[in-house]
Amino acid sequence: MQIKDRSRYKFYFDWTDDSSGIFYSIKNIIFSKQTQYQYIEVAELGNIGLCLIIDGKIQISEVDEFIYHEVLVHIPLITFGEPRNVLVIGGGDGCTIREVFKYKTVKRCVMVDIDKDVVEISKEYLAKINRSSFFDPRLELVIEDGRKFVEGTREKFDVIIIDTVDPIEYGPSYMLFTKEFMETVKSKLTDNGIVSIQSNILSPGETRFLVAMYKTLEKAGFNKVSSASACVNSFMLNWAFIFGSKGRAPEDVSYDELKSKFSEIDTKFLTPDMFKAVISKPKYLEDRLKSADDQIITDEKPLFVF
Ligand code: SAM
Repeated sequence: MQIKDRSRYKFYFDWTDDSSGIFYSIKNIIFSKQTQYQYIEVAELGNIGLCLIIDGKIQISEVDEFIYHEVLVHIPLITFGEPRNVLVIGGGDGCTIREVFKYKTVKRCVMVDIDKDVVEISKEYLAKINRSSFFDPRLELVIEDGRKFVEGTREKFDVIIIDTVDPIEYGPSYMLFTKEFMETVKSKLTDNGIVSIQSNILSPGETRFLVAMYKTLEKAGFNKVSSASACVNSFMLNWAFIFGSKGRAPEDVSYDELKSKFSEIDTKFLTPDMFKAVISKPKYLEDRLKSADDQIITDEKPLFVF
């Protein structure tokens, strides 16, 4: 019998916290670069294929990025109804805008990413994943800090999607999760507008960030705050998303409306049933939301994740 020698593999290790993480064998590091803001790698890993990795954290993998992006994008766009003008902050891999452009009603999508290198690298190496979304004529690409852009614009958007890297200390994104910024975001939404934000991990041992985001959006004055979570297998984690609505919330969308919308949009993860399932809260989250006097995230006291 031949025994496979696993010691010959090289591994990529992505830390979840101080004491755990996930690892994949490295098939090929295709590209790497330290940019002005972050360290970017494009690699082929184990059984998850082509990946974008920023500062040692897997951002997308070709096998299941659609789970993350469908939840982040379709829940707010369907909830809004007939979105025309969409703003994406971050999203440099091009997958969020790929999903936005599935809506015929969308006339224009402004995408603001701080790092031009992520965009250039994604155009060149990740086209098979983002399906060349950067070439859709409805895209207006801006290279700028997302907060600076939102504070400076006079425009209003139907849906604002915040798809940045996690708020790590010394990283470029932690000022995009504060009450002050959420108040500005709210003021840049149209009457029934909705904001959708990627919100890190949700597990029985890790509710801290999502609960703080709930409290922060409520404090910022949103009419309704809702969340969703879905297991992203390549992260080996249940990932959370939060939505702040000025008008109706995801829970208000009827099953019949979902059936009609999903018959028009090509998805691989969401169906009307999955939409309802991912926006349901686990009991431990409901309990934490009732009992918590969690930190409201402010400019003075931002919250960092690992
Ligand atoms: N799916 C992802 C994840 O797992 O966290 C997010 C992917 S996307 C590649 C994250 C993007 O956020 C990067 O392209 C990064 O340049 C951008 N970003 C970070 N800070 C930003 C800021 N302050 N303003 C705009 N974009 C920012």
